[in-house]
Amino acid sequence: MITGMATQNSLHLARRMASLEPSATLAMAAKASALAASGVHVIDLSVGEPDFPTPAHICAAAEAAIRAGKTKYTPAAGIPDLRKAVAADASRRTGLAVTPAQVVVSNGAKHALHNVFMALLDEGDEVIVPAPYWVSYGELIKLSGAKPVLLETSIADDFKLRPEAFRAALTPKTRMLLLCSPSNPTGVVYTPDELRALADIAIEADLAVIADEIYDQLVFDGRQSPSFPTLRPGLADRTVVVAGVSKTYSMTGWRIGWTISPEPLAKAIGNLQSQETSNPCSVSQHAALAALTGPQDCVADMCRAFQKRRDLVAKTLSALPGVRLPEIGGAFYAFFDIQEPLARAQSRGIATSAAWCEALLEQEHVALVAGSAFGAEGHVRMSFAAAEEKLTDGLARIARFLAR
Ligand code: PMP
Ligand code: GLU
Repeated sequence: MITGMATQNSLHLARRMASLEPSATLAMAAKASALAASGVHVIDLSVGEPDFPTPAHICAAAEAAIRAGKTKYTPAAGIPDLRKAVAADASRRTGLAVTPAQVVVSNGAKHALHNVFMALLDEGDEVIVPAPYWVSYGELIKLSGAKPVLLETSIADDFKLRPEAFRAALTPKTRMLLLCSPSNPTGVVYTPDELRALADIAIEADLAVIADEIYDQLVFDGRQSPSFPTLRPGLADRTVVVAGVSKTYSMTGWRIGWTISPEPLAKAIGNLQSQETSNPCSVSQHAALAALTGPQDCVADMCRAFQKRRDLVAKTLSALPGVRLPEIGGAFYAFFDIQEPLARAQSRGIATSAAWCEALLEQEHVALVAGSAFGAEGHVRMSFAAAEEKLTDGLARIARFLAR
C-alpha cells in the first residue's frame, strides 16, 4: 500500500450507522424547499415549527449578550442563571421543588433526549415507546445500543397507551417508558388519570420514565397538560422531563432544550455533554433566559393562534370523505387516518402513506409527512404551525387530491 492512499475500506461506516434513518420530517421539509426553490408554489405543512418570529424582547436580549461579550465558552451544563430560570419556571408551574442542579441545558430537546438515552441505557435494554411516536425516538434509542419496543395504539383509544398494553409489553429487559404529551405527532393530551395508571405500572416495574413535555404550554380549550413527575409521590426520582424553548417561544433555530432529572443523573449528563459538545451556544442561552424570565403573553398569544388554526384544520379534515382524526388537545399537529382514501387510490398505483404524500406533493404541491415515519402506516401528519391562508389553501388542495 502506498502511504497516504486510502484503502477501499478505510471509510466504511460503523455498524451503528447501518440502520440509521435520516429524520423523515426534516427530509420532507428539505424536499418541499427544493421544489419551492424551483419556482413552484408549495404549501409546506411538513415540519413542526412555529411560523411566528421569535418575540422581539428575546432577540434583543441575544443582541445585548453579543454586545456584552457573552460569546465565550460557558459551563458545559449551561449558564447558572439559565439553569436557575428553568428550575424556577418548572417549580412554579408544577409545584415541585426543582433545583438548578437538576437542570442540564443542551442543544435543543433532541440533544437532551440523546443525552438521556446515552446516560441511562445499556446494550439490549428495552424502551417502551407508544406508536405513533415522534420520528427521532427510535433512532436515538438504537444509537445508544438499546431497543425501542414500539407499542401500537389505535385511533379508538385516541392513540393513547393503555395500561394493559403497557403491562403486557414488560420483559426483564424493560428499562424505560418514553411518553410524549401533548403528543407529536397526534396532538392528543393524556389526562392525569391516564398518566397515573401508567405511572403506577412504571413504579411497580421499577422503570425510568422519560416525559417529553416540549409542548406542555401549547394546550387548547383551557386544558392543563399535567407534568408527569407530579402525578405520584416519589415519581420525580425515576423521571426525566425533557423540554425547551423551541416550540413555546418559537425558537427552533436557537437550539436550546433541557433535561430535568434527579441530581446524580444531571451530573452524569453534564459530564457527557462536557465531552461531546461543551456548552450550547452562549448567545442562545441568554436569549432563552430572556424567554423564561420576560413577559409571557407571547406564549398565550401564540397558543390562541394555534387553537384557532386547530379549529379550522380539525373541522375541515374531519369533513373529508374517509378521513378520521382524534381530538387535538395540544401541540400543532393533525394526524389523520387515510386508510379508506388509500384503498381507493390503489388503482392509481398509490399503496402506502409515503406514496400518498409523494403524489400529493407532486400533484398538488402540499407537503405532509407519511404516518410510516411515525410508526403508523395508513396515516399522515399535517403541521398547522402555519398561517391561516396557507392552511386554507393547503386543505383545499388536499380535498381536491382526495376527490381525484
Ligand atoms: N421532542 C418532540 C416531541 C418534538 O416534536 C421535537 C421537535 N423537533 C423535539 C423533541 C426536539 O426539539 P428541539 O428542536 O428543541 O431539538
Ligand atoms: N419536531 C419537529 C417535527 O416533528 C421538527 C423536526 C425534527 O426535529 O425532526 O416536525
